[in-house]
Amino acid sequence: MMQFCFHQGQIKPSTEATIPLAAHSLQYGTTVFGGMRGYNNNGQITLFRAKDHHQRLMNAAKILGMDYYISLEDFQKTIEELIQKNQPKTDFYIRPFIYTADEVLTPRFDELNYDLGIYIIPLGDYLDTSKGLRLMISSYQKFPDACISTKAKAGGAYLHSSAARTQANKLGYDEALVMNAEWKIVEGSAENLIMIYRGEAIIPPLASDALEGITLRTAIELLKENNIPIRYEFLDRSSVYTCDELLLTGTAANILYAESVDDRVISKEMGPICKTLREGFDQILSNQHPRSSELLTQIQL
Ligand code: PMP
Repeated sequence: MMQFCFHQGQIKPSTEATIPLAAHSLQYGTTVFGGMRGYNNNGQITLFRAKDHHQRLMNAAKILGMDYYISLEDFQKTIEELIQKNQPKTDFYIRPFIYTADEVLTPRFDELNYDLGIYIIPLGDYLDTSKGLRLMISSYQKFPDACISTKAKAGGAYLHSSAARTQANKLGYDEALVMNAEWKIVEGSAENLIMIYRGEAIIPPLASDALEGITLRTAIELLKENNIPIRYEFLDRSSVYTCDELLLTGTAANILYAESVDDRVISKEMGPICKTLREGFDQILSNQHPRSSELLTQIQL
């Protein structure tokens, strides 16, 4: 974690940002969080889709009934100030989150005081982007949205991602794929999925119990620009084993491809659609795409 963070309405040294042991959020996981990348090109900082990240965080608070709101302008201004104060030297990851430090015993969302915390960590590759991933289908089923919101990045909900990722890594795989309660494969532990089959992109629908990823949103826009047909359908095990490319998208992970799923080889090399999407992404991030200025926030250190 970098030297300065945002806590209780001000930027302060990270070592001074403390919360009580009995904090409701620590005991019950009552937080909602975001995760945004900061790209650092010799002191020229680029943030990707800050507006979308703000909107998803505010929606998460709304879904769970947490009484907290910050405007897009104030959110962006605070993040910019925090970046300036930290003067990052590498690429990084920004973690804004809404939490409560109230020492309340009852598990509930209302009648609590919420605060926005933001910290920054240096972050290079989250998963190895230089090769394909070895995936396994987890035995930890994804919880349904009717139980816990799957559209909010809610702290407590990440017990599930943690279980799936731990299991996969302990068994020697890079990452886990998870099935929903209908036994359909819906996402990775922290990535969305795009399955390529016979020239079409097949993506689990919004109501599949996967998070609505901001990287996926961008990938869908790039697929449309490249006239690649998209179908929103559930993925089953056999289709995934026999598809042409299986892509994972996420802020931390970017766009990755599966080498294998449960040891069934999908593709040893990066496939053409993964290449197209990565090139499109690089174009956006390097200001060479017509929509770059709309999607990027530039900050000069
Ligand atoms: N699914 C889950 C469960 C995640 O945690 C993430 C990471 N935020 C994603 C998908 C990908 O979302 P995004 O592209 O917005 O990072």
